[in-house]
Amino acid sequence: MQTDKKYVEPGKELPVSYEVDVLVCGGGPSGIAAAVSAAKNGAEVMLIERFNCLGGQGTIGLVTSFMSMSAYTGGRQVIKGVWEEFTNLLEKMGGCIKPLDMAEKKPYFAVNRHEPDTAICPFDPELYKIAADRLMEKYGVKVLFHTYITSAIMEGKEVKGVIIENKSGRQAVFAKRIVDCTGDGDVIAYTGAPFETGVGEKDGVEVKSPVSTMFCFDGAAPDTVTWKVDQELAYGAVNLFPLMKDDEFRAEMTRVTGINPCSAEDLTKGEIACRRQILEVMDWLRKNYKGTENIRLTKIANMMGMMVSRRIVAEYKVTTDDILNYEMFDDVISMNAYGVDIHNPDGGGCELYWLIPGHAYSIPYRALLPMGVENIIAAGRCIAHEGIAVMSTCYGTGEAAGAAAALSIKENVELRKLPIDKLQDALRKQGVYLGENEPEKPEPRYIHIKTL
Ligand SMILES: Cc1cc2nc3c(=O)[nH]c(=O)nc-3n(C[C@H](O)[C@H](O)[C@H](O)COP(=O)(O)OP(=O)(O)OC[C@H]3O[C@@H](n4cnc5c(N)ncnc54)[C@H](O)[C@@H]3O)c2cc1C
Repeated sequence: MQTDKKYVEPGKELPVSYEVDVLVCGGGPSGIAAAVSAAKNGAEVMLIERFNCLGGQGTIGLVTSFMSMSAYTGGRQVIKGVWEEFTNLLEKMGGCIKPLDMAEKKPYFAVNRHEPDTAICPFDPELYKIAADRLMEKYGVKVLFHTYITSAIMEGKEVKGVIIENKSGRQAVFAKRIVDCTGDGDVIAYTGAPFETGVGEKDGVEVKSPVSTMFCFDGAAPDTVTWKVDQELAYGAVNLFPLMKDDEFRAEMTRVTGINPCSAEDLTKGEIACRRQILEVMDWLRKNYKGTENIRLTKIANMMGMMVSRRIVAEYKVTTDDILNYEMFDDVISMNAYGVDIHNPDGGGCELYWLIPGHAYSIPYRALLPMGVENIIAAGRCIAHEGIAVMSTCYGTGEAAGAAAALSIKENVELRKLPIDKLQDALRKQGVYLGENEPEKPEPRYIHIKTL
């Protein structure tokens, strides 16, 4: 049974298994892009991932569609770079449908959605894994799976490496620069740097982002309506996403609240509670929802998803106002056209602030730089706002973090002191769009939808 006793672990000599230029921790969307981008900028790169594949929430969490409104807006593409290269490769393998082809290939998807730009980019999570392996091979990234990063090696305020654990034992890895793409900001938390875990307060108590386990089913009518608010459901709505096969959908329809992302006990409770809801939701659909009378469960995500777990405290925190004001920062490193999407921490439903189609905002370099610790940069979900956590945007921030890590080694400067024009030039050369052709800010500024 659980106890609060203590055990003093004896000191031990560890093998230093690897020494590299750039170490990318975590192989989700941000990690994939960071690794490729660091390699493109001449670094020797290693990527460490605790599971057996790349893709993060996209593969192990079955979040099987890029929210294309982050990358495209009003038919205009604002996230390019590694994300474009990856989706081109996946498309060639028959593993995704590009957003601009959705109207032809998935004509029913737009029906009754609440999004202003209704296209998404659905993908096959299995082909995604293979495409990501190919990309790592192409750029010479050394990948190590089945390996958990368990602590940071510090010298004063500088992170010099990490401790890893895997079947080969406990080892050390040293790197000139480290990119934290764990989604949870694990490495930055291990350094002792500050972080946040809440998404607000209720009655003086911090509230956490809710968790959700994705699942897929087939046997549905291809024209099944994919969105309908229904307060009877724990999620607060029917929320389905098309997959590659016409009769198969991914359901984002489980919801559990009050889970602490830093507690393994709570994470276990969340996994079990979410999985328990799956069969109940399937039954509810069969009985109540047109087109899903004959559905069969095909997949359950290996890991539940949480929009916000740990958020780093960075030099700059992107705010809701920045997003809804289409802010253009001088130190822009990625654009984004996804608005604000708050999953209700207190029950079903969500609150959405959609941007006006055709408009986008920027993400500043400072948002990737954690306070209180050097030699490490973050990207992806842990760098703050819900609006910038969607997967194509994580490619965007990952690409910038990887390039910054490699360039700061070349320039022999701290990450914080890297001249922004050098980083921006490198990103532009990689095909990244940094908001050079943005239109005038629109009025009204956004579309507000509440389904709580
Ligand atoms: C309910 C829900 C619905 C969503 N819907 C969408 C959607 O429809 N479209 C969209 O684009 N986005 C969606 N998102 C957001 C998106 O999935 C995530 O924000 C995104 O995947 C984050 O990318 P990341 O690279 O930061 O982290 P992750 O995808 O979380 O990847 C982190 C990786 O790091 C690894 N890792 C973590 N800790 C360690 C460690 N200590 N050691 C080694 N490896 C480690 C993990 O195994 C994982 O592979 C949704 C999120 C949720 C929760």
